[in-house]
Amino acid sequence: MGNRDLSLCHPQHRILFEPVQIGPVVAPNRFYQVPHASGMTEANPRVRASFRGMKAEGGWGVVSTGAVSIHPSSDDSPLPYARLWNDADIASHALTTEAVHRHGSLAAVELWHGGAVVMNRTSRLPPLSPSGVPWAATHVGFMGQQRPKPMDSRDIDAVLNWQRAATRRALDAGFDIIYVYAGMGYLGYEFLLPEYNWRTDGYGGSLENRTRFVREMLEVTRDEAGGRAAVALRISLEELRAKASDHYESEAHGVVSLLSQVPDLWDVKMDSSPNDCGASRFRPEGAHEPIIDFVRTVTDRPVVGVGRFTSPDTMVSQIKRGVLDLIGGARASIADPFLPDKVRRGESDAIRECIGCNICIASWHDGVPVRCTQNATAGEEWRRDWHPEQFRQTDKPEHLLVVGGGPAGLEAALVAARQGFQVTLAEQRSDWGGRVLDESALPGLGVWRRVRDYRVWALSQLGNVAMYTDSPMDAESIADLAPDHIALATGAQWTRHLYSALEIPDQPLDGPKVFTPEDVFANRISGERILVFDYDNYYLGGVIAEHLGRRGCNVVYATPAGHASAWTFMTNELPYVYKALGEQQVEILTTTNLNGFDGEQATLSNLFNGQTLERPVDAIVLVGLRLPNTSLYQALLQSRAGGHKGLQGTGINLVGDALAPGAIAHAVHSGHGFARGLLEGDAGLYRRDEPITLEDPQPVVILNPATGS
Ligand code: ADP
Ligand code: SF4
Repeated sequence: MGNRDLSLCHPQHRILFEPVQIGPVVAPNRFYQVPHASGMTEANPRVRASFRGMKAEGGWGVVSTGAVSIHPSSDDSPLPYARLWNDADIASHALTTEAVHRHGSLAAVELWHGGAVVMNRTSRLPPLSPSGVPWAATHVGFMGQQRPKPMDSRDIDAVLNWQRAATRRALDAGFDIIYVYAGMGYLGYEFLLPEYNWRTDGYGGSLENRTRFVREMLEVTRDEAGGRAAVALRISLEELRAKASDHYESEAHGVVSLLSQVPDLWDVKMDSSPNDCGASRFRPEGAHEPIIDFVRTVTDRPVVGVGRFTSPDTMVSQIKRGVLDLIGGARASIADPFLPDKVRRGESDAIRECIGCNICIASWHDGVPVRCTQNATAGEEWRRDWHPEQFRQTDKPEHLLVVGGGPAGLEAALVAARQGFQVTLAEQRSDWGGRVLDESALPGLGVWRRVRDYRVWALSQLGNVAMYTDSPMDAESIADLAPDHIALATGAQWTRHLYSALEIPDQPLDGPKVFTPEDVFANRISGERILVFDYDNYYLGGVIAEHLGRRGCNVVYATPAGHASAWTFMTNELPYVYKALGEQQVEILTTTNLNGFDGEQATLSNLFNGQTLERPVDAIVLVGLRLPNTSLYQALLQSRAGGHKGLQGTGINLVGDALAPGAIAHAVHSGHGFARGLLEGDAGLYRRDEPITLEDPQPVVILNPATGS
């Protein structure tokens, strides 16, 4: 643990730096990066090791992997997952444990068997389950068209052996804490829940019987670990807590009581991803507490839990009120790997707080390494050599002018200033934040203001930045400043284009009653009955429909996509979007295109069968195509080409939405990358990771090729 000096730490927060005994190992403090998906697999072991190692460097006392499959019958493809299938997989994990141990932290491995959740699309083995009950069977994202095999006693023995073998490999790789996973629908969870466990043998029926499989998994893990590593149980308690029990307050109380002394650590969580990793739009900080608050009263083993905690005061309260012993962080640790170190140094203001947008989890759903809105360096630690807190210094402190104070401009200015450039930041509006300023005023998005607040605060701490609001810049005023570099972070604008039946942008829809999101932000929408037409299909169309509904409008939301705000499936928001729109009585039309609007009647048609329908509305808000604001860029290029003195030799660059409109995460990453690129040597660095392979790879042992077990 790099530095343990607590002299600057706020006295109230020192409790967070107490060591915690976890079975045979000691966590150096209470900051525990719980297992979370990173999209990093054996294909990119160095990216993964640097990503996890950075959190240890930032002070997280325990750093965990994401799910690590114990056998090819736990194959989540195309979603990314790690493996410990045979000895060939040990070396790549050893890179991670070395990176974590280098900073004195403990490394934990989340061994995992996916049971009926996985579809084994690559291994083509039958998924295993207690009783052949499929999981989320009508959920397109999980449909694999294969039902799971009910496990016989041979299968159960096989899984126990795989857990044992994976434990041995985990020890060889250097892990200090080894998990058994009984959460989120995976195999252990399916044994616990009567909906999935219909067995009539010793593994089904009574609560004692249903916990037997998890108990045995813990026992083989402990036996194999032999005191060299702690054994953790990760368990989802939401559904169990909702179940009445004859002998306990609930089945959750029962399971924890029955297994109370079996694991060295309880890692407790919710059941479904939208609840467990809830977006801030719908779930507040600490939302797990009502479900997991009892665990510490039933076991004397340490308990770790999460809740998108970013405030040290909230963390201290969790400890002092006896809810948790260790403060779990997944998103908090992605957004700021140095959160613990900042608390230790008494610099809580400097924490780059997670905004709960769930772009990180969307990366996993996309099958790619993690991306973060707040932390552009997440996943880039090794690949691009981006450290979240350290910046190479320029030996030529040239003048950078950044035009536009949205997420891209703020990030570009901050990173350039931290590298020692002389920075001027000009914004035409009277406040900072660009689109974040507007969007964070909409329902549920208030926490997103942190994108702006963190950067404005951080810039205010630096002496080499001049910041001007109410400062619209044109080519002439920019040339007068004669900067060495120009970053145009001038954003993008929403257009009124309709889309064709092939979903290609077509002609604009003109008329006084046709609006865009900018009109919503400026409060220019009039009328009672509003159609929100969404070609964008991320959050904004749905949020605007909710916002107008809350204002008392009668709202129809329509989209060519199959769901309202369809892409919010990726960010765990989709079920809650429907709830929010339902509460505002918004009519939802999907697979629907917009053909026209005569000022009174909107004409729509079904995307597939062409059937038309009409809705009488007073106005339409189109959430559609966004085009970059590049007029200033063009004017500057012209001035420079025309020989304007102030622009000779000046680099003129577009960043953020002005370069390519996207999510806020894209804008921040673009601003960051631009500023790093100002330093020679950093520009263009893009390392390619490769698997660590044995010269002669050994086969994974599958006892029965037909069943995998
Ligand atoms: P991004 O997401 O790329 O940061 P935003 O749209 O959030 O883009 O922010 C762009 C910002 O640039 C807005 O705050 C806008 O007011 C500002 N801006 C655009 N053109 C100019 C200009 N000519 N002078 C100063 N500020 C500008
Ligand atoms: Fe938090 Fe969003 Fe970053 Fe995820 S992507 S860690 S939710 S800020």
